[in-house]
Parts: sequence; structure tokens; C-alpha cells
Amino acid sequence: MNNTEEIKSKNFIEEIIDEDLANGKYKNVITRFPPEPNGYLHIGHSKSICLNFGIAKKYDGKCNLRFDDTNPTKEEIEYVDSIKKDIQWLGFDWEDREFYASDYFDTLYEYAIILIKKGKAYVDSCTGDEIREMRGTPTEPGKESPYRNRSAEENLDLFERMKSGEFKDGEHVLRAKIDMSSPNMNMRDPIMYRIRHASHHRTGDKWCIYPMYDWAHGQSDSIEKISHSICTLEFENHRPLYDWFIKELEIFPPRQIEFARLNLTYTVMSKRKLLQLVQEGIVDGWDDPRMPTISGFRRRGYTPESIRTFAERVGVAKRDNVSDLALLEFTIREDLNKRAQRIMGVLKPLRITITNYPSDQVEELEAVNNPEDESMGKRVVPFCSEIYIEQDDFMEDPPKKFFRLSPGNEVRLRYAYIIRCDEVIKDDKGNVIELKCSYDPETKSGSGTSNKKVKGTIHWVSVKHAVKAEVRLYDRLFNVENPDGDKEVDFKSHINPNSLEIINEALIEPFIKSSKPDDKFQFERLGYFCIDTKYSAKEKLVFNRTVTLRDSWAKISGKEK
Ligand code: ATP
Ligand code: MG
Repeated sequence: MNNTEEIKSKNFIEEIIDEDLANGKYKNVITRFPPEPNGYLHIGHSKSICLNFGIAKKYDGKCNLRFDDTNPTKEEIEYVDSIKKDIQWLGFDWEDREFYASDYFDTLYEYAIILIKKGKAYVDSCTGDEIREMRGTPTEPGKESPYRNRSAEENLDLFERMKSGEFKDGEHVLRAKIDMSSPNMNMRDPIMYRIRHASHHRTGDKWCIYPMYDWAHGQSDSIEKISHSICTLEFENHRPLYDWFIKELEIFPPRQIEFARLNLTYTVMSKRKLLQLVQEGIVDGWDDPRMPTISGFRRRGYTPESIRTFAERVGVAKRDNVSDLALLEFTIREDLNKRAQRIMGVLKPLRITITNYPSDQVEELEAVNNPEDESMGKRVVPFCSEIYIEQDDFMEDPPKKFFRLSPGNEVRLRYAYIIRCDEVIKDDKGNVIELKCSYDPETKSGSGTSNKKVKGTIHWVSVKHAVKAEVRLYDRLFNVENPDGDKEVDFKSHINPNSLEIINEALIEPFIKSSKPDDKFQFERLGYFCIDTKYSAKEKLVFNRTVTLRDSWAKISGKEK
């Protein structure tokens, strides 16, 4: 990025806020993040979190956390807890402003009574199907309900009895009285309350009528004196209703602003679909490292900084668009490059005996912890006559430009010596099981007297000192760019069957012994890895690969196919 790009221009939401502050419409900025606790947060939510908390910070305002818990049956405490944990992990703080739409059920009920008294709301006793039918279509106006002209007294009485539990689910609803022929379907007498005999995770059995989203949301914003209610584009044509309720109630008027939701290639983001993946056991819980959830990314080894940077980079758009998963991967790679400790680990080991190296000798070689950051210092790596290298780094019959190890050829061992392959040992079936090599003592990294040069450098670990680990390699969870693209096809048919590869016995240099869950590393030449927080234990080290060192998919679709 050059300097001019670094100077960030304001996004369109900030321009609106500037204007509102300049002309005195609002004195200070209060935003909110309003998750429905019916699933874990995903990367799309992080866009909204960064935006809402970010704006509050920029304008020296506040951002509330408000659980939109109006639906009693789908919501759970587990989700509330996970949402709080994820927002904190992302680096944001709602201080003491943890609110719940359910805290406002009493006020919302009083507000409804105001509208009924004004003749702006009525109890409809039609069935759900009848109401749907009378709603019309976008091109045909709807029909007025036969109950639309009930008197305020009758409505007040029925509404009160709805609340006190006299009726069964679906017997009545409370509707706003607006305009059944409005071209905006949301204005055709939208439902405000329905009867639901269900326990709520916070209000218990106090209520058997529950407010609809459109009724609860705007009024909750108003109660909290939210200045700018930032939401995604699908609410654009709910805005007239949002404003109508506020105006009729003559309460504090927040301003709703819509922006385009974040979409990502190779990813589904709907909580309903993510829940399916969890419930059907296609993934190992909401925090499976292949999930696009915040908790999944955290377990995978992403940093909060990288997710915030990504949210910044995709920007705030007014029109729908799809961001490239590769951009997210680039962002985490860039962040880990700066901070990750380098180590050597071998995923698929091939044993080497260095025949001219004393078999009882151990040498401590010096290795750089992070070439991007000298302050991270150096460590020692033990070297001896038996080592493992990666199976892929040897070829018996190599093509021309293979610069790694092959019979009669030399390669440099990282931080150590140049070795030559003298003999290939195979099992009965002809598989290579070991190599006999010789080393050149004059070629020690950093201090060797020889000026011999070889084209390839490979990683290795000492057999005697290696630590065993399980390593989990991940690939995209879906094998098409837009798994949601065709409504006729089940998104699960696009699951990538090879999204997880488990390597049971990888071998890691002994430095790893001092590490703890969630520590992040670059395994030289193999990618960025972190120690899994769920399955790693004293007896068993488990790593997740966060991301490869390069975009391996770009290579596959490019000329190296
Ligand atoms: P989903 O479609 O995943 O169920 P939702 O909108 O129903 O999402 P909520 O819990 O209501 O989920 O979302 C909380 C907030 O996060 C809302 O303000 C919503 O607009 C925002 N949000 C949800 N998904 C995205 C996304 N993909 N990009 C940006 N913001 C989002
Ligand atoms: Mg929602």
C-alpha cells in the first residue's frame, strides 16, 4: 500500500454521521451491535462489530451490545456466552452496556397500547394463512382484514387478554394499522405481536405474546437513544416502517443506515446453515477450524488483529458484493509473518543416517526465531547423525529442476550442513524407507569455511530429539465459489470431502516442548500453525494449520496445474 492509499477517506456512513452532527440532528454518536442469540458469530458479524464499535470509537461515542432475543424458542444461553466471548476476543468492549430486547418487553407493551389508543394498531383474529393471503403481492395491493376496524376499546381488551394467556397460539395477532395497498409490503399492516406459549431464556413464563423483529428493534434502538442504527441492506425497505413506529410514538428518533453485508467466496454465512453443519455432524462443532465462525477462526489460529484488518480492507459498501477468501488468507498470513515463531517440523518423515557424522555427537545449532523481527532472538536446534526430512524432499528419479535431495545430489539442511545422498534403502515392496547420506563438515551454516553453493535448502528434525504431534491440515469447506448460489441444489452437496487431513505422527523440533495451547508458529516451508485449544493436551500435541505460506489455490488454477 502506498501513502495515498493509507490516508483513509471516510466511508459513506461516516459522511452521514458528520452531516448529522454538523446540523445538530444528534449531539453524540451511539451505535449498537444487535445479535440474535441463535447461533455463534461468524466473519460477517465481525464486519458489523468492527463497524459499530469502530464508529463509536472514532466519534468518541458509545456502542451497546444488545441481544435481540425476541424469539423464545430458538435462543440459548450458550449462544449469549459465545457471542460475548467472541466480541471481547475481537478487542471490543461494551462496558456496562449489555442490553437485551427482552428487557424492554414491558415498555414495548406500553408502546403498543399507545398505538391501539391512537387507532394505529388492532387485534386481528384471522389465521396466519388468511393474513398471508390478504397481504397481496408486490404488484397487487392487499385486502383489509374484516377485523381492521375494531374499536380501540375492543382492541385494548383483546390485547390485554392475549397477554394474560387467554388464547391459544395463532388465535390473534396485533397488527399496525398502516396501508394495505402500500407498494412496500412491509407497510401492509405488519404484525407487531403474536401469541407464543413458550418459555423465554430470560423472562421465563412471564410472557406469552412476543414482539416481532420490526416492532422490537427500532423501539429498542430508541429506548437506548441510539443515534445511528447501522444494519444490512435487506432492511432497506423496512426503514419506512422503522420510521413510522418512531413517528407515531413520538419517541427518540434513531437514524437507520444500511450497508452491504459481507459475503465470502467458498463460504456459507447463514446461521441456519451453519447450525445444520453442526447438528448433522459435518463439522466438529461451531468452533471447528473450517467454520467461518469467529470461534472457528480463533481455533484455526487467526488473530483478532487480522480479522479487524480484513474488515477494514473490505470496506463499507452500499451494494452487495462478494469478498475473496484469498484476501482473508492474505491478511492472516501477513499478520503471522510478523509475529510467528519459526520452527522446523516434518509432516511425512523420511529417515536419514549421516554416515560420516559421529553417532554419539549432538551439536547445538543456532536458528533465527523470526527473520522479520530480530527482537524475537535465536534458539538452538539439536543436530545429530540421524534426522528426518520430508518425504517430498527426496526423489529417486527427479525431473530437471528438482533442487532438493536425490541420489548423488547435494542439498543444504537449514541451519546445518550440506549433505549428499549416497544410498537409497527400500523395503520389500520397493518403497524408500531410509537414505544414507554424508555431510560436508566445512559447510556449517554461518561459520563454514567452504564456499560450496547448492540450490536447495530443506528442513529437518533430529530423530533423537523430535517431538511427536498430530497435525491437522485444512482446506476449504466447500469446493465451489458460491455454495449458496443455486437454490435448487442443497448447499451441502458442495462440501469438500477433503477439507480435513489428519497427520498422526508429525515430528517437531524440541523447542515446541515449552509451548502452550493457542501458540502460533511458522513451520518453515509448510505454513502457519497453532496449537489446538480443544484437543491438545500434555500427552498429545495437536496442531492446526492456520494457512499455507502461499495461496496454493492460485497455483492450482494458474499455470502450475
Ligand atoms: P444470519 O443471516 O447469519 O442469520 P442475521 O442478520 O440474522 O445473520 P443477527 O444475529 O441478527 O444475524 O446479526 C447481528 C448483526 O450482524 C445485524 O446487525 C446484522 O445486520 C449483522 N450481520 C449479520 N450478518 C452479516 C454479514 N454477513 N455482514 C455484515 N453484517 C452482518
Ligand atoms: Mg437478524
